[in-house]
Parts: sequence; structure tokens; C-alpha cells
Amino acid sequence: MEFLLTVQSTPTAFADRHIGARRQADVDTMLKAIGYDSVDGLVDVAIPDSIRQDTALKLQDALTEVQVLAELRKLASKNKTAVQMIGQGYYDTVTPPVIRRNILEAPAWYTAYTPYQPEISQGRLEALLNFQTMVQDLTGLPVANASLLDEATAVAEAVLLMRRANKNKTAKDGKTVLDSDLLPQTIAIVKGRAEALGFEVEIADLSAGLPDGDINGIVLQQPGVSGRVFDHSVVIADAKERGALVTVAADLLALTLITPPGEQGADIAVGTAQRFGVPLFFGGPHAAYMAVREGMERTLPGRIVGVSKDNAGVPAYRLALQTREQHIRREKATSNICTAQALLAIVASMYAVYHGPEGLKAIAETVHGHARTLAAALKKAGRELTSESFFDTLTVRVPGKADKVIGAAEARGINLRFIDADTVGVSIDETTTPEVLSAVAVAFGAGPVGDAAGFELPADVVRSSDFLQHPVFNTHRSETQLLRYIRRLSDRDLALDRTMIPLGSCTMKLNATAEMEAISWPEFASIHPFAPDHQTAGWRELIEDLEADLTEITGYDQVSIQPNAGSQGELAGLLAIRGYHLSRGDQQRTVCLIPASAHGTNAASAVLAGMKVVVVATAADGTIDHADLTAKIEANKDVLSCIMITYPSTHGVYDADVREVCDAIHAAGGQVYVDGANLNALVGLAQPGKFGGDVSHLNLHKTFCIPHGGGGPGVGPVAAKAHLAPFMPGDANKAAHEEGHGVAISASRYGSAGVLPISWAYVKLMGGQGLTDATKSALLAANYVASRLDEHFPVLYTGEGGLVAHECILDLRELTTRTGVTAEDVAKRLIDFGFHAPTLAFPVAGTLMVEPTESEDLAEIDRFIEAMITIRAEIEQVASGDFTLEKSPLRNAPHTAAAVVYSGWDRDYTREQAAFPVHHLKQDKYFPPVGRIDGAAGDRNLVCSCPPLEDFEN
Ligand SMILES: *Cc1c(COP(=O)(O)O)cnc(C)c1O
Repeated sequence: MEFLLTVQSTPTAFADRHIGARRQADVDTMLKAIGYDSVDGLVDVAIPDSIRQDTALKLQDALTEVQVLAELRKLASKNKTAVQMIGQGYYDTVTPPVIRRNILEAPAWYTAYTPYQPEISQGRLEALLNFQTMVQDLTGLPVANASLLDEATAVAEAVLLMRRANKNKTAKDGKTVLDSDLLPQTIAIVKGRAEALGFEVEIADLSAGLPDGDINGIVLQQPGVSGRVFDHSVVIADAKERGALVTVAADLLALTLITPPGEQGADIAVGTAQRFGVPLFFGGPHAAYMAVREGMERTLPGRIVGVSKDNAGVPAYRLALQTREQHIRREKATSNICTAQALLAIVASMYAVYHGPEGLKAIAETVHGHARTLAAALKKAGRELTSESFFDTLTVRVPGKADKVIGAAEARGINLRFIDADTVGVSIDETTTPEVLSAVAVAFGAGPVGDAAGFELPADVVRSSDFLQHPVFNTHRSETQLLRYIRRLSDRDLALDRTMIPLGSCTMKLNATAEMEAISWPEFASIHPFAPDHQTAGWRELIEDLEADLTEITGYDQVSIQPNAGSQGELAGLLAIRGYHLSRGDQQRTVCLIPASAHGTNAASAVLAGMKVVVVATAADGTIDHADLTAKIEANKDVLSCIMITYPSTHGVYDADVREVCDAIHAAGGQVYVDGANLNALVGLAQPGKFGGDVSHLNLHKTFCIPHGGGGPGVGPVAAKAHLAPFMPGDANKAAHEEGHGVAISASRYGSAGVLPISWAYVKLMGGQGLTDATKSALLAANYVASRLDEHFPVLYTGEGGLVAHECILDLRELTTRTGVTAEDVAKRLIDFGFHAPTLAFPVAGTLMVEPTESEDLAEIDRFIEAMITIRAEIEQVASGDFTLEKSPLRNAPHTAAAVVYSGWDRDYTREQAAFPVHHLKQDKYFPPVGRIDGAAGDRNLVCSCPPLEDFEN
């Protein structure tokens, strides 16, 4: 490998590929429109001097793509692959190559945005609805969401859901009881959350019955971490009798053979869909799931896909019940989760589509058969099993010999689970072969395995009900069929591989192919999160290196990449602040100030950190209202914990007074949380850790090129100053509260490690100079859009010199008052031009927020501007009475091919204006598969599993 590094760097630096408008002529055109001579001149005016960083980023010089891939190969070779039989919530699996290449590695899927614009998202919405249906069927519960972040945090969400939903007079304020056979990381995460919120958690062996006292809810696991399968029906009935709610964490593969939680009376089922074709990824990203019984859907956390109708009455998918989410409910939201694990949920759903009910059952039976075979061999050799009723995992007693057995297995290339000095765990998965079973048996000092004999599942837990009967799970059996199904769905959608996605606050930039390549290499993808350290040196080196680079970029002292979304980074940062105040005896400091314009996750996270939210008003110019800030600080000075600000603000402006705001908070004994979602406007130019922040989260799926995946994965590192370092996320698998660490935020130590090579590669490919150039180009592009569109749609907020930061808010409210045309109409009309809408109604209702990012070239930006100006002229046609609003191309957008060719066309505009409002669309036309979707109807009549096919045959 070494020789690759001596290859001459290509004449084209990667930064020139990453940055869209790199040619001097294009830069000059943009500068001229804004009225500047140089990019540096523009940047100097836009960014307040008081926050500018004075030294260039000290990062390694930029590498070429060839060099970066060679470096990644070197890191990968420092990891040691093994047969992973550790289990504990993570199992090896076969990702069918047709799914790996055409979903996990396919830009049409991984560069898509969260399906908030349902008309251009029908493909991924269908795949997510398949995921929900799969979870509902397997768990025996009627409503499931389309993914949570990991199994342990999903259980924590379930515990909080039980606490919200239990209305029983005596039980509702009771303790939460966790079965002692839960995954240890689950227990650690739930305890960490409970501590901040102040409710009691008890760990008990629930197979021996319920403990005394009032119980809000219980959590069981099927199978338990020990592998034990037992009939939950008695303890569930007892819990209900006492007014407690019941959650079961269940393994989806096991549920093909075992009675599902819903049939045993559970209210909630949670777990992970990892082993449905999603690689181990050293701990994540994986899709967690949650399903609930009827009546709980309105408090269910996470996104739910539902079925509604479009304006022609055609069934269409959309996100349902969005009013539960943090965007709208803020501190009253059901959860702080925003970015989830959509891409991984889609992979898991396709795994079920491909294998179908018989295929999944056959896999489960093979796994179970192998476990029985091994059990028989161990038993024959006199080894003791802690439970003789199991699905895939055996817990074996080997007094004093655990290390020896594990060493013997490792010598044969197999990882087993160290439980304690006397106990070893073995988990079987779909990749386990008879040879491996024999090698394991030998490591235990037993003879080679023979036939499966005995250890049948007890009759009272054997599943008798059908599952996955819908045609979608019974049609796509050949690879040709599945390939075409995947292609058909992705053709319905718009992602970055077709068009810019100018979503303010979301930074939909290039996700370069070279950045993506390493994630599916086995030396990264096939590593178990609890593999011994000496097998994971490459992973840890990459992670430490990335953390160090992010520390340099942000100006903080320490970074942890553990949180697996921005929302989780927020919680981690706020818990660090909480820990800091507690360590100083300041228990009373629990008030979190949040500007009215903040992202909804901020308020929702503050509540989860046990804080009280106090809102600070926005001044007319979009900055924080100083009088109100002073008043709120004064009113709360003894109880002030922190402020959460976003910088540049969610208004897309560099507020000049940010240092004063930070100083005022510090003077009152509070801490400053800087939401780093907008870091794309800062990298190389200003550092939150230097201008007053104590702690921030970043969104690697925004600024650092991890693709958005249609709603996840994400990585939300938390970055902090030294005084908060002792409270940074701990390891859920180390004994609670290791010295010098705070509570764990994710199930595994490095969260969504699997996608970190993407951000690592981005930083190395760009180098300090390239990253800084990217920030400047992002500013240039946003200011170009703002200056070109301002006369058509006024730019709501600007800073120094009338400039914006990396995004701009276009204000439509006056136009709406005058003509009735709404920002939503404009968003939908953009689809007819082949564009994804900008951010709608955040942070200001009645507006669109545009963020072009540095990756868009001038021609694409100009096409967008042309579309917006053309739409503006249509709005004028409504004003002048050329057509009524109801019969306008705006209100009737987007136009499907079916609508345009409809023989009963009776609109006041031509079919040509409908479909080809600008000339070049005649060659490259995207037709949405459905017209404008009626969201409210779908919420009134909630359907969130695959509907019968007849519904779609009209
Ligand atoms: C995206 C975003 C978040 C939430 O991040 P997730 O990764 O989606 O959880 C928080 N704050 C702001 C300003 C954001 O734009």
C-alpha cells in the first residue's frame, strides 16, 4: 500500500471538485451581483471582527482522493476482523449485495433529505412504510414509527413514553422497573436519563415476579441478554393488574419464531433492526424501532409515515402526526429526536422484502438450530448453560476459565462474550457455519458438534400467527425483481444526485464518492462494538484523529463523537453543563434560556436534561432582544443554568453582539451552549470555543459531508471547553460513571462509528485551506442568491453591510397577504421546475430559507434563481387576475404527468405552463408521482401500514 502515497497528486485538488463555483469567472459574476471585488472583502464585512479567528487552521495538508483512500486502507488494516459471536444487541448479518450497492451505496437513496416534501419522496416513504409494517407484523402491535437512533436510547424513549402515558392514579408516579436480563448498555442509558429527570429506576429479576411498591412501567427483554427465552405473559398480566405499563425489547429475527410482545399484552415493543442486513459498523448506525398499541400513537416519539390522498384522490404517503414532533411542540414534544436512521431502516425493510416471511423464518430456524447443536455439544461435555430455553445465545458457566475459553476461541478467529471470570456468552447469527460451531465447541473443551437435539422452544412461547402477508413482502424474490423495485422507488424521488436541495439549516452539500467508499470495507463494517481493543486499533486511531481535527476546527478543548444525531449532541452538552453545576453544589441552576427562533430540538433537549425552558424574545432585526435577555437573566440569575444560542443564528445572520451575550450569561454564573448546526458558516473563519461558547454540538451530516440518508444516519459530536471535559459522554458498557466521564448518550462508545470515515476523509481531502475556502464559497453563494432574489422576495434579515451568512430567509408574508399565494405554494411549484423546496416556515412562518452551500455551481444556482423569478411572475399573474389562486399553477402544483395529460383539463393556464414553465425542462423533466397531498386528511384517518394494493389501482 505504501507506494500509493508516492503517486503524484493530481493537478486538480479535491477542494476544486467539492466547491461548485471555483472558476474565477463564476466567482467574479457572483461578486459583481453582490457588489464586491473580492471574496475576502465580502467575508471581512460579513463576519464581525470580534469573532474572527486570527490564525489559519492547523490541519494536515490536503490529500488527494488516491492518497486518502490509501490512508484509509492503512487504518482499515489495523483493525482485525473476526467471527463476531459477542452478541449483546449486535449480530453479524449478510447485507444482500443488491441492497448494499443499490441503497447503502446509491446516491439516489443516501443523498435524499427527510421526506418533509412528500410529493418528491414517495419512494423512500414507501420503503419506510414497509419498515413500519414489518415491525408491526413482527411485534404484533398496530402502530410503529420509522426509526429511532439505537436500541438502548429507544428503550429510554419507551420508558419516557410510559411515564407520559400512564394515567393510573397510584401507578403513574411509581418507579420504572427494568428486568435484570436487559442489555447492560440499555440499563446504563435508562439510568442516565432517569437521573436527570428525577424518577426512580429499579433493576429486578422479573422472572421471579414484580417487586413491591408503585410501578409506572416495566421493561422486559425477549430474548434476554443471557439468551434466555421465557414466557412473559404472567408477569405482563401482573403488571397490568397493578396499573403498570409494559415495554418489551425484542429481537425481530427471534419474533419470527416466538410469540410477539403485542400478543402477550405488551403496550410497547422496541429494539433494533440491525441484524436485518445492516453491518455491525463498530456499533452503528443502525435503525432502532418502536411499536405501540392502539391509543398511544399520538405520543409515540420519532417519525411516522402515513397514507393520505393527493389532490386527485390518489393514495399517497406522507409523514403523519407531525404536530407531535419537536419542530412544533418544542419543550412539550414527545422526544427531541429529529434526524433518525432512515437509510438503515430502508436497508432493513428491503431485507424483509427480499427474504419474505418464509425466508426470514428459515434464517431464524437455521440460527436456532445452530444454537441447539452447540448447546448439545457443550452439554455433552459437561458444560452448564444458564438457560436451556434460548433462541440464538448461550450463556455458559466455565468456573474460573472465561479468559481461557475466550482466548482459545480468539486463536481460532472467533470473538465470544466475556461476562465474568466464570461465564462466557456465545451468539449465533445468519453467518455462522457448522465449522465455526465446532471451533467454538473445541474452545470450550467440548468435542465437535453433531446434530441439533433437544432444546426446542417451549410450546408456550412458539409463535402461531402469520406475519408479512402483504404482497410487497411476497413478490420481489428474484434479484431482478428487487433491483427494479428499488429503482422504481428511487425514480419517484428527488435527491442531491438530480438537483440542489437548498434547505436552510440542513447544509445539503456534496457527499463525495471517495468519502463514501470506505464505509463498507469489511475491516470497518464488520467490527463488533465490543470487540477487544487490540482488534480495533485502526478504528480508534481514525476516531481520535477526527476528534482532534474537530477540536482544532471548533476551538474547544475536547470532542466526543458518541452522540448519534444533533439532538443527542444537544442532550450530551446540556448534561455536561448539568454535571458541572452539580459538581459545584449548584443544584438550583436548572433554567435554560432559549431564543424564540431556536430549532425545536433545543427546547426538547433541555427538558430531557431536566431543565426548565425560558424563552428569550427576538428583536425586530432578528437578533436576540437585549432588553428581554437582560430581564430574563436578572429574573433567573440564581437559577440560571445556561443559554442555548445558534451561531450564526437560525436567521442566517452573524449577530455582531454574540460575545456580549456570552459575557452576560457568564457574569450571571451560566454556561453558553452554541448550537453548531450552522458551522458551515464558521469553519476556518471563527470558532465557537473561542468567542464565548462553553459547549457545542456539530452535525457531521450537515457540515462534514455525511449524507442525509432520507432522514439519517447522523453524527452529532459534542465539543466542550476543558472545565466540562469530566462530564463528557461515558461508555454505557463500562461500570456506571467511570471516573472522569459523564452519563452515556448512545448504546455504544463511538455511536454511529460506521459513517465516521466519511467526515474523516472530507477533512483530509480539504485540508485547512480547502475547508476555509468552502466556508467562504458558502457565504458567496448565499449572498449571491440573496442579492439576486431580494427584489423579488425580500430577504428578511441581514447583518453587517446588508449581508447574510450561509443562508437567507425569503419573506413571502406580504405577498401572501396581497395575493393569497403561500410559501407552501412556492415550495410545491418548485417541484415542477425539478427543484427540492428550501426550508419552509422555519424559523419564521410564511418564509422560505435558502442555503445553497459551497457545492453548487453557478449554473445550478442560476437555474434555481430563474425558477424563483418565474414563480414570482406567476404570483403577479394571480395579483393581476390572469387566473384565480384556486386555478393557478401555484395552488395546483406540483403537476403530475397524469394531471397534465388529463383530457378534462380546465385550468386557466396552459398544460405547457404547468409542466414546462422554463424551456430547458423539455429535455430533463421530473414528474412527481403524486400531486399535492392533503396532510390533514391523513392525520384524521391514520393509516400507517402498507395499504391493500387495490387502493393504488386507480
Ligand atoms: C439540524 C439541526 C438540529 C438537530 O440536529 P439533528 O441531527 O437533526 O438531530 C439542531 N439545531 C439546528 C439549528 C439544526 O439545524
